[in-house]
Amino acid sequence: MTGAPVPPGATLGFLGGGQLGRMTAIAARTMGYDIRVLDPERECPARPVAAHVITAPWADAAAAAELARGCAAVTLEIEQIPRPSLEAVAAIAPLAPGVDAVFTIQERARQKEWLRANGFPLGPFHTVRDADGTASAVASLGPSIVKSAMGGYDGRGQVRVRTAEEGAAAFTRLGAPVCVVEAFLDLDFEVSVLVARRADGLAVSYPTSRNHHTDGVLTWAVTPSGVEATREAEAQQLALAIADRLDIVGLLAVEMFVLRDGTLLVNELAPRPHNTFHHSERAHPTSQFEQLVRAICGLPLGATEVVRPAAIHNLLGDLWTAGEPPFAAAMRVPGVRVHLYGKTEARPGRKMGHLSADGGTPEEALARVLEAYRALVR
Ligand code: ATP
Ligand code: MG
Repeated sequence: MTGAPVPPGATLGFLGGGQLGRMTAIAARTMGYDIRVLDPERECPARPVAAHVITAPWADAAAAAELARGCAAVTLEIEQIPRPSLEAVAAIAPLAPGVDAVFTIQERARQKEWLRANGFPLGPFHTVRDADGTASAVASLGPSIVKSAMGGYDGRGQVRVRTAEEGAAAFTRLGAPVCVVEAFLDLDFEVSVLVARRADGLAVSYPTSRNHHTDGVLTWAVTPSGVEATREAEAQQLALAIADRLDIVGLLAVEMFVLRDGTLLVNELAPRPHNTFHHSERAHPTSQFEQLVRAICGLPLGATEVVRPAAIHNLLGDLWTAGEPPFAAAMRVPGVRVHLYGKTEARPGRKMGHLSADGGTPEEALARVLEAYRALVR
């Protein structure tokens, strides 16, 4: 996708109307774009901000083509869309990121094999296709995580194992045709880098976000991360190099592990807005959502420096078990904003929204979202 910029006022298409699609659509609306969305769920979060919503499963290539018709560009908020549907879009309108980049990323084994083949730093892993293979992988790697190659997110589709027998049982339990077995790493902390890249190759990176997970799902994220300058530069260079090699158009989030000995490793990639950069609305001149629109439209990329420390804390469905959480209590904390995704049903573990806060320091921003979150827990 090269050529003339897609000016504000044009129509953009989104594969996926979840919270990422919704927040991107809001940013696009602010800039004057009209929005079309395809999502399997009728009452998807992006519905209220989209001019047109198509309800169809991801495998429905005709529906994908229908989305693309009339769009000046199409992007996505979810990578696990069958290749024929991606191709149906790309045949009609510029799809950003492109089919090959999304295809490489959408399956965990394919993504990790690609990263290894291209010399990017990864922890030890094996791709496995049966219980015996999983048992021998765990026997050679030691304590590991078995992850299904397709369909996992928020730590779902993953089992932590210690022995070969547990590995074999985990493969059977996951019931996926392909899994990866990753050595369980001694993490010091986790960071992510977000890159925005245009079709002409121009790219910018955001400074690292520091991320905390609980049981495989993101709890909070804060920027700036406090990582020392050489590792910060290394992380941003690494993410830019991966985006370049994949020829990403749009956004690429690179989740990274920092080990106790200081080694920086790639955990996984996402070719879309990322939960760990929701604070970009507060911390940077350009939010990740506006940046995505700029990148896919071939517009000037926005500034990415930290102008104000900021943090987010996720709100999972578990918070709703005793009814609607007391949001006013959270909003009493200075600098705190409540973000809700408009999901009607609160299931345990489901991302319903997040809190964000700014602060004079990253520590203060994080303390504010943590304090606000405590006010919601009953
Ligand atoms: P998400 O969709 O939230 O990014 P996911 O389901 O794709 O998650 P991963 O990113 O693979 O899952 O893992 C989730 C978290 O589990 C990581 O951020 C990290 O905290 C922990 N984790 C994953 N793999 C390893 C590993 N090999 N060693 C140690 N911890 C790990
Ligand atoms: Mg992850």
